[in-house]
Amino acid sequence: MTDRYAVIGNPIAHSKSPEIHAAFARATGEDLEYTRILAPLDGFAAAVAAFRAAGGRGLNVTLPFKGEACRLATDLSDRARAVEAVNTLRFEGTRMLGDTTDGVGLVRDIGALGVAIEGRRVLLVGAGGASRSVIPALLDARPAALVVVNRTLERATELERQFGGQVEAAGFGTLARRPFDVVINATSAGHAGELPPLPRSTFATGALAYDMTYGKGATAFLALARESGAARVADGLGMLVEQAAESFFIWRGVRPDTAPVLAMLRAAA
Ligand code: NDP
Repeated sequence: MTDRYAVIGNPIAHSKSPEIHAAFARATGEDLEYTRILAPLDGFAAAVAAFRAAGGRGLNVTLPFKGEACRLATDLSDRARAVEAVNTLRFEGTRMLGDTTDGVGLVRDIGALGVAIEGRRVLLVGAGGASRSVIPALLDARPAALVVVNRTLERATELERQFGGQVEAAGFGTLARRPFDVVINATSAGHAGELPPLPRSTFATGALAYDMTYGKGATAFLALARESGAARVADGLGMLVEQAAESFFIWRGVRPDTAPVLAMLRAAA
């Protein structure tokens, strides 16, 4: 029988994960089916149980259920425990294994862009779920500094506390004349057509500006970065493909080639 996987969230119609995993399956010769599940906001656990009872082998979890998936899993990877969020569930007998692949996805995509994080000054803009989920992987890549700037300073300070001072919290007002080599937008500001108030001096000459948002075309953040002297700009589509590849590896033990799948999505956009 074909192994069944799905992405579960609310909303879910926009998700590109089925296309990505179908392409991975074709390229690797893995026999699997991957669909979308729209779970009611108060019905995540029941929807997971129903999928599992019908023979499902694993799930990707997206908004707003990543925290709930973390609480539902019977076993957590160290990285999922650290970020208190799960985007990948694997069913093993009576166990439900929870992992998070967003951070690895981001760091691999930055590597694929030819940019090193080691020894560089990295600024993470935003202190919500997306920001928290990538901090351990960014720290593993050994930046010279990792600063988290957020509109609500207290949320950034909370991350500083949680990550034992390896992360420095900052407010936007303290950023002037502090250039960074890698600036990552992990806010949802762009969804409302807004822009985090970053001074132009935030972008060091030759910096990489990375917007975790995707599918929005040239965002205001990337436009600001270009005007401010960033040498490279990237949206979050590569991160999406890389985090999917890591989930595929967790389920199937096979690491798919990501570049052709990213190229396919870009061509279709
Ligand atoms: P949250 O709602 O948890 O956090 C939103 C963050 O954005 C907060 O830090 C918030 O600041 C900040 N923010 C919102 N509006 C503004 C504004 N106008 N100015 C400054 N800051 C603002 O969202 P998530 O962390 O879950 O998601 C953030 C983004 O990351 C989304 O765009 C999402 O699509 C993207 N993402 C991309 C992934 C990928 O694979 N490429 C994976 C996961 C997420 P405050 O705390 O002050 O409210």
